[in-house]
Amino acid sequence: MTITHTLGFPRVGARRELKFAQEAYWKGESSQETLLQLARELRQRHWQQQAQAGIDLVPVNDFSLYDHVLDTSLLLGVIPERFGIADGHVGLDDYFRMARGRAPSGEPVAAQEMTKWFDTNYHYLVPELAPDQTFSIRSSKLFDEVDEAQALGLRAKPVLVGPLTFLWLSKFRGTQRAHDHADCCGAAQLQAQAQDEGKLQLLPALLPVYNQILAKLAAQGVEWVQIDEPILSLELPRSWLDAFTRSYAGLEKSGVKVLLAAYFGELQSNLAVAAKLPFDGLHIDAVRGAAEVDAVFQAVPADRVISVGIVEGRNIWRNDLRASLTLLARLQARYPQQIWIGSSCSLLHVPVDLAQEQSLDEGITSWLAFAVQKVGEIAVLRLGLDKGAEAIGAVLSAADAARHSRKTSVLIHRADVKERLAASSEADATRHQPYDVRARAQAKRLQLPVLPTTTIGSFPQTAAIRKARLAFRKGELSEADYNAAMKAEIAGCVAAQEDYGLDMLVHGEAERNDMVEYFAEFLDGYAFTQFGWVQSYGSRCVKPPVIFGDVRRRAPMTVAWSTYAQSLTDKPMKGMLTGPVTMLKWAFVRDDQPLSETCLQIAYALRDEVVDLEKAGIAAIQIDEPAIKECLPLRKAEWSSCLQWAVRAFRISASGVQDDTQIHTHMCYSEFNDIIDSIAALDADVITIETSRSAMELLDAFVDFRYPNEIGPGVYDIHSPNVPSVEQMVALMHKAAQQIPLQRLWINPDCGLKTRGWPEVEASLRNMVTAARQLRTELA
Ligand code: GLN
Ligand code: ZN
Repeated sequence: MTITHTLGFPRVGARRELKFAQEAYWKGESSQETLLQLARELRQRHWQQQAQAGIDLVPVNDFSLYDHVLDTSLLLGVIPERFGIADGHVGLDDYFRMARGRAPSGEPVAAQEMTKWFDTNYHYLVPELAPDQTFSIRSSKLFDEVDEAQALGLRAKPVLVGPLTFLWLSKFRGTQRAHDHADCCGAAQLQAQAQDEGKLQLLPALLPVYNQILAKLAAQGVEWVQIDEPILSLELPRSWLDAFTRSYAGLEKSGVKVLLAAYFGELQSNLAVAAKLPFDGLHIDAVRGAAEVDAVFQAVPADRVISVGIVEGRNIWRNDLRASLTLLARLQARYPQQIWIGSSCSLLHVPVDLAQEQSLDEGITSWLAFAVQKVGEIAVLRLGLDKGAEAIGAVLSAADAARHSRKTSVLIHRADVKERLAASSEADATRHQPYDVRARAQAKRLQLPVLPTTTIGSFPQTAAIRKARLAFRKGELSEADYNAAMKAEIAGCVAAQEDYGLDMLVHGEAERNDMVEYFAEFLDGYAFTQFGWVQSYGSRCVKPPVIFGDVRRRAPMTVAWSTYAQSLTDKPMKGMLTGPVTMLKWAFVRDDQPLSETCLQIAYALRDEVVDLEKAGIAAIQIDEPAIKECLPLRKAEWSSCLQWAVRAFRISASGVQDDTQIHTHMCYSEFNDIIDSIAALDADVITIETSRSAMELLDAFVDFRYPNEIGPGVYDIHSPNVPSVEQMVALMHKAAQQIPLQRLWINPDCGLKTRGWPEVEASLRNMVTAARQLRTELA
């Protein structure tokens, strides 16, 4: 029988049980044992769901209490000294301090950096290597979870981040991450190369630990282990490819079989090396890598397994089962290798269970599949492959019907939207005057001090706000009462900002559940789930809406809130929108037209809003694009066309206004070196970015490029509950001011404050304003 498996399953639980348990523990409201017990229950539930649906090898160690890369750091003993963890046991609170800077016990400490996992919206904690790094097994999590799964009578397939992917994703302590190669500036590139080579020198020390791990797993009776090497879908330097050959040859035959897992794209020029590695099986992403499936089968030795990742782990569209089955049957007939059927990548990136959804249009529901449904698709494909298409005839017909209904649905195609796009011109994408002319007009209108202070938009989403929203959704609170409650929140937020002494205010985004979903609700073409949560980082989950059809704005979205907020203060109130690329990337996007077209549709809808805000007297409008780098394909060779439409979309959304209206944008967790020209091409008057965790390192790109417009490098790490001191922030701004003219600098936090509590926000922002005042006196 053909073997089925998944590369990983969502951890959070169908009702986000893990999130609530983590947060209760962090707040001191529940015990470690309660958290660990819930974690065990979730693992067990997810394994059993998969096994019962027909998955043969269940993934183990895909679960995590925070992040699987951090788990790997612990497994390998990569624990920076500042966490003060002596040799031996690493406690749960040590783990959480590495992740988030604090835990119920122990002193606060700077957390590890966080960045995006390939081109997903999942964030991992960047491992920190020392040049003389040693490795040793420091965590028993992997082995404990194998025991757990085996005790349930399941075939456990442990999942490990592979040695080369682990090194690639790491950084050397105190230096910049190294995986951005073709930087605009040679120095950064040389540094990156030096880092890359330095990291490879650690390989001989690292591999023995992998061997120990495999030996332990073999002793536990594990048959297959999945070693994830998603970097095989990147453009790798020659030295790294060579290192693959060395490393995998160095993994001893410990008795356990290795399934080397590549995913997120094609292997392309890495294929020749990858196919010849001494694995027992190779997993490929047959969705994103559909075009090279045959090439893989031709290159991999005949006696190996090839796991065909045919059920998409990155999007929520129902599988075209008939096409998948045809492909699998053809591969089986033509090639000698043994075939497995799996998800393209871990199902971590999709919601748990479509069956929970009660409020989606029935037609739309029939087009979708979440993790549980995808598991079912994998199982049914195996049945079809082993027993013939007739054996799954009814399922195939149902999938066909769903596809047909999607192609022809009137919910999807809108003539007015298509006409507007067809008429799109260069003028739509261009401000009237260049930045320096606009800057003078804006200075006159806004009357801000040097080093103006502002925030990124959201203020704490308190329990009271969430309660009011829930009551409103359930119909227990009238719309009028809900609006009154939100207005009261906004008034409180504006008063607080005036009290702290901030210069450019925001309304605080109390009325927004989520920065994408909020807008999407005003737009045709988007649909919403009730429980479609996906982990973003730690306990934070997002519920991406589904873009299924042509997008247009039904009515103004933010104008009433922004004008109300402006009416409460003489300080400028910044309008706050989510940009077109982020509206695209943080949704599950339709796959029946190019991304660029969907993005431009959204851009025009946002442009209407920007123009309406200006008409209502709002002098500064921020268009957030935290997802800008996520639109980039993993391979640099494919970047430029994507950047072109992304930049154009932003400019279309921003360019409908007069010179004296100040357009801001905000981006977080991005290294900008390699796209700085595109960032500049956005032509935003002000950009705010995340820089505090990296101690302003991320600013270098702007300096090297001589970024021409205004910039607010974040001085307050909002992903940690710690309150930054005045001195810390002054020191960070000193660094910034050495490199960027004062007239073009702003002072602001790294990102929005919605996940923080008021006491820490108040203390931090007061410190930030004090820092700004101190700097003004000192530097003026
Ligand atoms: N304006 C948004 C906020 O403050 C920006 C969030 C983000 O960049 N992710 O919440
Ligand atoms: Zn941000």
